[in-house]
Amino acid sequence: VIEVAKVNKWFGDFHVLKDVSLSVKKGERIVICGPSGSGKSTLIRCINHLEEHQEGRITVNGTVLDENLKNITNVRREVGMVFQQFNLFPHMTILDNLCFAPVWARNMPRKEAEDTAVMYLERVGIAEQRDKYPGQLSGGQQQRVAIARSLCMNPSVMLFDEPTSALDPEMIKEVLDVMVELASSGMTMICVTHEMSFARLVADRVIFMDGGEIVEENTPDKFFDNPQIDRTQKFLSQIL
Ligand code: ATP
Ligand code: MG
Repeated sequence: VIEVAKVNKWFGDFHVLKDVSLSVKKGERIVICGPSGSGKSTLIRCINHLEEHQEGRITVNGTVLDENLKNITNVRREVGMVFQQFNLFPHMTILDNLCFAPVWARNMPRKEAEDTAVMYLERVGIAEQRDKYPGQLSGGQQQRVAIARSLCMNPSVMLFDEPTSALDPEMIKEVLDVMVELASSGMTMICVTHEMSFARLVADRVIFMDGGEIVEENTPDKFFDNPQIDRTQKFLSQIL
């Protein structure tokens, strides 16, 4: 589904992604970890063109991400993204947050958008909050709304950028539970996260980035129990 081939990116003089290659098959779950500043967010932001890469090739469902605006639009249709900060519209109710894009970007009839929204709110366990505003919800609830909002666009791939790192510990689990459920439904997922229990439970592969490079890639068991590279060992000893 996703093919990242020898991608290089610079912010000015700063070489942030160095020859990054990654291929993700339909239904695969990838966890990306690595120290702060290693380029994890930049990499996944390149996959839906929130950032532009300068060299290499990114293909999503056969569409190459290039200057062609139509291609970018097509790719964004396929790719849902959930951020560390939930990025909900604060002045809209939960239900309106979920219906907004389907109605205005996809011309979905309001009734159909609402039915879809309620279905996903039920799936993430907060249908009863539909008429509240984001500010009235806990962080964990807001993040579950953000996930439901992405799912309303019917993406074929979901990208998560540290979805639990802004949350209080007691709310982390409720968000991870939703992500685990999503994984078991067969969703293709790339998750930047340091939640090792999640990685062990759902990841097909764990990718370790450092200094803009993918330096190690393995199954979660091998990655955590027997890291091959010094830098990985050092990183794991700091977070575990
Ligand atoms: P973290 O774990 O802290 O989220 P990260 O691995 O996600 O880190 P990135 O956000 O991808 O790291 O950033 C990689 C590097 O690129 C950092 O050194 C950062 O300062 C730099 N960077 C990120 N965005 C920009 C930008 N818009 N302009 C210039 N430099 C940037
Ligand atoms: Mg980041």
